[in-house]
Amino acid sequence: MSENRDYYEVLGVDRDADARTIKRAFLKKARTVHPDVSDDPEAEAKFKELNEAYSVLSDEQKRANYDRYGTADGPSGSGYVDINDIFGGMGMDDLFSSFFGGGAGGGARSRRERRRGRDMAISLSVTLEEAALGCKKTISYDRLAPCEDCNGTGRAEGAQEKQCGRCHGTGYVTTVQRSFLGQVQSSSPCPDCHGEGTVIDHPCETCDGQGRTPSHEKIDIDIPAGVSTGRQLRVSGFGEAGLRGEPSGDLIVNVRVADHERFKRNGDDLYLLSDISIAQAALGCEIEVEGIMP
Ligand SMILES: [Zn+2]
Ligand SMILES: [Zn+2]
Repeated sequence: MSENRDYYEVLGVDRDADARTIKRAFLKKARTVHPDVSDDPEAEAKFKELNEAYSVLSDEQKRANYDRYGTADGPSGSGYVDINDIFGGMGMDDLFSSFFGGGAGGGARSRRERRRGRDMAISLSVTLEEAALGCKKTISYDRLAPCEDCNGTGRAEGAQEKQCGRCHGTGYVTTVQRSFLGQVQSSSPCPDCHGEGTVIDHPCETCDGQGRTPSHEKIDIDIPAGVSTGRQLRVSGFGEAGLRGEPSGDLIVNVRVADHERFKRNGDDLYLLSDISIAQAALGCEIEVEGIMP
């Protein structure tokens, strides 16, 4: 995958396309390159590239920067907030690979499982004080969320979901090719229903019948007192939305406790390095130290 593919080209839209056109183009392409429906070994990379293009072109500021400077960040040193700061060191790549549920379940999932939204993972950095006392954190991230216009059903008003005529509801089409090795039979997801087995006669326009649309989310989560690095907090239902009203996956927050300038932590104990004089060392002494108190 080339690093510098033009985002407009990736989405297949003109440079002056409006927000709605960009969103539609994203949804349309996502349907064919999403690794759940595509057999292409590059599907995951392509979906990632598509997401990246969309995340830039759907954001007015980032798009303006991209048009002007060729990158979403704009000229270096601008006021743009690096996504790495927000996610405590998690890169854009990690963010989008989190769309894939960290590989759990991987390849062959049943249709029902595929329709459920995937779990997503993000990492969150907290200070030692926040870890010790517990805190509330607001996290923002991008996900496919249930479509508001059709309540996640993917159907326009009065539309019906019916069996796909092309694959007769199986979700797969079988092709037989003759080659010098003999007949090669292969099955692939049905192009009409994208492996669903059913089609909607009038799909919702906003989500193109998927029941989910890309959305920027902001949620508050409680960090319990005493967390340590590596702790995972599961926020149920805040991962990728399921297809056409199936349940959403979970959001898994990987907590990382930042190093403290004075304290070292060992389990639930805190160690403090303090300078004392030779006289104090020889005679013994009392010094005052700070801890972390509620
Ligand atoms: Zn079909
Ligand atoms: Zn919709």
